[in-house]
Amino acid sequence: MYDCHMHTKLSTDSVMDADEACETAIRIGLEGVAFTDHLDYDFPGQESFLVDFEKYFRMIEELRGKYGDRLKVLSAVEAGLQPHVIDRTQDTIRTYPFDYVLASVHIVKGEDPYEKAFYSGRTKKEAYSLYLEAIYKMIGKLESFDMVGHLGFVIRNADYDDRTLRYSDHSDLLDMIFKELIDKGRGFELNTGTYRDMRPDAEYDLHLLKRYRELGGELICLGSDAHQARHIAIHFDYFAHLLRDAGFEYTVHFENRKPVFDKL
Ligand SMILES: [Zn+2]
Ligand SMILES: [Zn+2]
Repeated sequence: MYDCHMHTKLSTDSVMDADEACETAIRIGLEGVAFTDHLDYDFPGQESFLVDFEKYFRMIEELRGKYGDRLKVLSAVEAGLQPHVIDRTQDTIRTYPFDYVLASVHIVKGEDPYEKAFYSGRTKKEAYSLYLEAIYKMIGKLESFDMVGHLGFVIRNADYDDRTLRYSDHSDLLDMIFKELIDKGRGFELNTGTYRDMRPDAEYDLHLLKRYRELGGELICLGSDAHQARHIAIHFDYFAHLLRDAGFEYTVHFENRKPVFDKL
């Protein structure tokens, strides 16, 4: 298996040493990892969610030299999208030879769904719809990306008794997202780290995966979103099982921006 989403300490919100990440990945038997450090232009209150990519690519080369015979080390970026920074983000993505581009929404209309304030005064349906609408708009505008990050980002800090993102509550929007991704030959990641402090069997709705598969969706990857080595590949066994239940036979990782299929 490949863990397609993790952050080294080049990202300001991560403390993970890249060597420790590679050593951990080898120890637990992963075939490869993608280092998706952050590119978030105009992140409210935090200008520095930007990585020095010259330094980043030197790090990747060093890691490949050290671990390349035991682990595939993929260069990647997690691009945080807001409508007014799409062109700049696109330019940066095109400047560097990434293996993989993960497109995520972290900010919705200037508000951060990671903060509890995003949910106050909004019903669960309103708050989650806002997030999914932002994703739908982003994938219509961004040309150069491979997969969409964490569809369920909103559940991490949502203040509702039942946080689960359910297909049946947002079937119109989710169908629009799935169809757009399938039409464009793209997919989405199953962000296992979202369920780090939860019980995924209780809080992940299998119908999301089943519906995506039913519409013809094939591209799906697993990403832990680890910011610490102990979170690498978290819940992968559970979600691999769930993917098989939903009818998937493969996950995918990206090399040189092309999908490579890995048997589940
Ligand atoms: Zn993210
Ligand atoms: Zn991330």
